[in-house]
Amino acid sequence: MVSRVIPVDAFDLVIFGGTGDLARRKILPGLFRRYCAGQMPSNSRIVGAARSKLDGDGYRAFVTEAIHEFGGGRSCEDGTLESFLKQLDYVSIDARGEAGWDELADKIKDSKLVRAYYFSVGPSLFGDLAERLHLHGLADEDSRIVVEKPFGRDLETAKALNASLAEHFDENQIYRIDHYLGKETVQNLMAVRFGNMLFEPLWNAQYVDHIQITVAETVGVGGRGEYYDKSGAMRDMVQNHLMQLLCLIAMEPPAKFDPSAVRDEKLKVIRALDPVEPHQIVRGQYVTHDDSPSYRKAVNDPRSTTESFVALKVGISNWRWAGIPFYLRTGKMLAKRASEITVVFKQRNHSIFEEDELEHRNILSIRLQPDEGITLGVTIKEPGPGGMRLIDVPLDMSFAEALGEDGGDPPDAYERLIMDVIRGNQTLFMRGDEVEAAWAWTDPIIDGWTQRGEVPKPYDAGSDGPGDAEQMLARDGRSWRPISS
Ligand code: NAP
Repeated sequence: MVSRVIPVDAFDLVIFGGTGDLARRKILPGLFRRYCAGQMPSNSRIVGAARSKLDGDGYRAFVTEAIHEFGGGRSCEDGTLESFLKQLDYVSIDARGEAGWDELADKIKDSKLVRAYYFSVGPSLFGDLAERLHLHGLADEDSRIVVEKPFGRDLETAKALNASLAEHFDENQIYRIDHYLGKETVQNLMAVRFGNMLFEPLWNAQYVDHIQITVAETVGVGGRGEYYDKSGAMRDMVQNHLMQLLCLIAMEPPAKFDPSAVRDEKLKVIRALDPVEPHQIVRGQYVTHDDSPSYRKAVNDPRSTTESFVALKVGISNWRWAGIPFYLRTGKMLAKRASEITVVFKQRNHSIFEEDELEHRNILSIRLQPDEGITLGVTIKEPGPGGMRLIDVPLDMSFAEALGEDGGDPPDAYERLIMDVIRGNQTLFMRGDEVEAAWAWTDPIIDGWTQRGEVPKPYDAGSDGPGDAEQMLARDGRSWRPISS
């Protein structure tokens, strides 16, 4: 099936941090792919902005290299890159000084196009950028800002960030990006739940036994050691990505698929989360047995107590989910790169089949990566003679096969979200109160570790995490889905 591409309105997009890693790997190649797909009008402009002294040609050379390295763009026609590059410009600018701001204003101030500013810089510069945009008359009521994670490191810092942006931009102009929400499968979570009669009647404590959310990485902290050691898995992954997935899986049906309705429902889930007791959490830190560095070596601190793995049992105190555990787990250097949400339904009440001694459960697995798709485990009769023996088989749908755009890969999360910014659709972005509520739930957990002086459990690189995480589920008579499966 070939998906439809609906062009957006022409736009001016200024990428602050336009020479940085995120711009190089994701934002610029993503924009090029949207251009190739015919979604980005050719009178749009992209202005890179950073302190590096580059001219337009220098920036276009930088972008060309980025596209060659990370671009994909396989289905592009010859000459497309050259015409895309004509839409690019660059301003050397300092977020904390005066340099470059007049030049930027000259380039974009009088334009009538949709205007967006991507803050692809460290969060310490968000407030400065908002302030300078305002001072130079560039923060008009039609402009939008996109801000990257991490959005604060606790409730206090998140509130301060929100306040600094709110001085010059309304909430409906602020797009807090969580790229997990741009994944095809994550949006399909809502389509599956609210577009079908099949699932929603069963989506509650009466029929669901428990839900697992796993985001497993095979990489270690790599070159991000210094940043990561101040953050850890709870701040880096759970407070944002896993929390957002939890919200989408657990929320009530919004009255409409619009930003306020969806985000209101997500917020209600966060506010209904139970506090987590110490026995409901396992923290881990990877150790290696080959040439690659163990966590503490990678972060250059032999006494680090930051977690590279965390597993939690979370409860939601509301009518729909009371008593049903949500098990969340994420970590680095695990057996396989895999992000998956698994809804495990209850065992049926009664079996009419005599030969059927095994337990059969319907399991709905929603894969976010590596290959986005949905699998529903159903029980059928084993083929052939020998009576009514039952087996479980998967009904599998891979999105890459079913939904490839022009036979190619579906759009990357960043591409999709940037196009949403241009359309002015905030549904898949986090609202300020959501982020604050997520920190309000996370902070006591992290504070508790500090107060108790807790040290994470070591786990072997390439494993499924510390054994204690398995035991946490075993105590409930359950088990994790193997990451290596
Ligand atoms: P980065 O590689 O360190 O790039 C930072 C960018 O900011 C550079 O272009 C830098 O260019 C510019 N910059 C720094 N100070 C500046 C100033 N005073 N005025 C103007 N520009 C300035 O960082 P990144 O990895 O791209 O990350 C950017 C943001 O995205 C961060 O908030 C990060 O947490 C977030 N993020 C990144 C990733 C990722 O995969 N990289 C993933 C998720 C979130 P000059 O030095 O030339 O000024």
